[in-house]
Amino acid sequence: MHQPLNNPLFRPPAEADSLILQVDQGCPYNRCTFCGMYKSVPYQRRTLAEVRKLIAGEAHGAPDARRIFLADGDVMRRPFAELREILMMLGTHFPELTRVNLYATGSAIQAKTGEELRQLRELKLHTLYLGLESGDEETLRAMCKGETAAEMAAAGRLAQDCGLRISVMILLGLGGQARLQEHALATAVTLNLMQPRLLSALRVVPIPGTTLQAEVDSGKFTLVTERQVVEELRLIVQNLDLTNTVFRANHSSNIIPLEARLPRDRQRLLAQLDFLLASGHLDSRTPGELPLWL
Ligand code: SF4
Repeated sequence: MHQPLNNPLFRPPAEADSLILQVDQGCPYNRCTFCGMYKSVPYQRRTLAEVRKLIAGEAHGAPDARRIFLADGDVMRRPFAELREILMMLGTHFPELTRVNLYATGSAIQAKTGEELRQLRELKLHTLYLGLESGDEETLRAMCKGETAAEMAAAGRLAQDCGLRISVMILLGLGGQARLQEHALATAVTLNLMQPRLLSALRVVPIPGTTLQAEVDSGKFTLVTERQVVEELRLIVQNLDLTNTVFRANHSSNIIPLEARLPRDRQRLLAQLDFLLASGHLDSRTPGELPLWL
């Protein structure tokens, strides 16, 4: 792969100020039914020689970069030796570098030993963005997630035990109306096991061209209403038992932006959600207005 970069380039909102280096293109799995991020992008990995060239070029333009995000989906899937090599190159070319972050799946984390993860941490790998989506195994199966909640929870714990930070994403509404309760309760249970340092709640939005959109169109999947999204989030928050987590629901898909430090702000967050539920402004019959694109 010599040519840059697919467009749009996806990165977590928190990486807005990071230097983005696209060492891979697309997602090696690319089968989640709700995900349209890389549907038209064949998965490719740059060779190490290409990555070296890319890094040298970027270092020329931004030699004082402190934070780097490695794109695209699941860069953690690369073998340990390649990741170590890439992190070493970054350390050489960016003397001010403090942290390198990337998207990871549970299985890609678990393919590394604890010792390997610790070595990657020493080379400034810092935050792994992990899409749990749901703690409900049936919902994950229905969405062809390809990983179980139990596997992702174990991977998250392993990463954090090795000094890495995990930033977990969940998708409100992913169980549809049929599994709203199960999705919410199992997601809280799984998050309690994982104890992520960062937690983001996004709302599922059917993307044109995805299997989920086709299931919505055919009536197989019924989207939760706008009010149910808030009820679901309240149920999750009510059942969370987190010791040190920054929670955000400030993505464009969310109904109102929320941010809290848990457990400290738990009551305030519940009160905000109760206020919203009592406001009379939430649509109880339809999903309400959805963003066109995430
Ligand atoms: S959700 Fe993540 S793992 Fe699933 S297809 Fe999209 S990028 Fe790949």
